[in-house]
Amino acid sequence: MPAGDETFVQPAYFVRECGRCGLLFRTPTLSQAALDRYYAKVDFREWEIAGFFPPERCVLRILRELPPGSAILDFGCSSGRLLAPLTESYDCYGVEVNAAAATEAVRKGIKVLSDAELDTAGAPMFRAIILVDLFEHLSRPLELLNKLSQRLTDNGLLLIATGNGDATACRRDPALFWYFRNLQHLCMMTRKHAEFICERLRLRLERWVELRHYDLSLREKTVQILQNFLFWQFRRRTWMSRFVLRFLPGMRELKSGRLAPNYNCSRDHIVAVFYK
Ligand SMILES: [Zn+2]
Repeated sequence: MPAGDETFVQPAYFVRECGRCGLLFRTPTLSQAALDRYYAKVDFREWEIAGFFPPERCVLRILRELPPGSAILDFGCSSGRLLAPLTESYDCYGVEVNAAAATEAVRKGIKVLSDAELDTAGAPMFRAIILVDLFEHLSRPLELLNKLSQRLTDNGLLLIATGNGDATACRRDPALFWYFRNLQHLCMMTRKHAEFICERLRLRLERWVELRHYDLSLREKTVQILQNFLFWQFRRRTWMSRFVLRFLPGMRELKSGRLAPNYNCSRDHIVAVFYK
């Protein structure tokens, strides 16, 4: 994957599940130094769309239930597009490692803090902290969540929107699943891991909303479902694939069974809401 003047390549990997905490994680990943360089160089517009993705809309709905004036922190806020519509009624903060994105967030009325500023005694306390499409990029998620939970007010909420490792489509073979084929994605949340977070950080899991990451048309969904079905027929060398499907036209790519289609139309994301 190119970013700025450098190309980053994910070496061959496995996806493992931690028996203790339930996290699904990729091994090996790029080194932390390479990942840091990647995020510093990548063009943040890569993640931007004009509106909001379904998990983002869900997060905004939950945030709007908070009393006006509440302090909200978007950790990994990118250009601040998610909190931008809330800056009028709420005290909005962000943390962002990409300098160009952070500048853009400030322009939208987000108070950008550095990671180090969050650690100081004078750092603000937040009624809500959100991690949207961020958890999966972390190499030590619990470490960060532990730090963030200490900046939550009593009854404050921690909102995590990320890939759901328990999703059926992922469980067929996590390493082949589209989510782990993205070099930036190091791990996936599971229900077991959410319970582990609760236990370690003394939080309560109040909501677990399963949804899709993308708004897709009926046509797009149909094509994905069909391609995915065919891929797994060939991959598992089913009777139907050997005696019927292989004679159909246009099956060359799928027949090889190597590259899984980009199957992202299922409810493979969650918005997990933790309370302190
Ligand atoms: Zn673990």
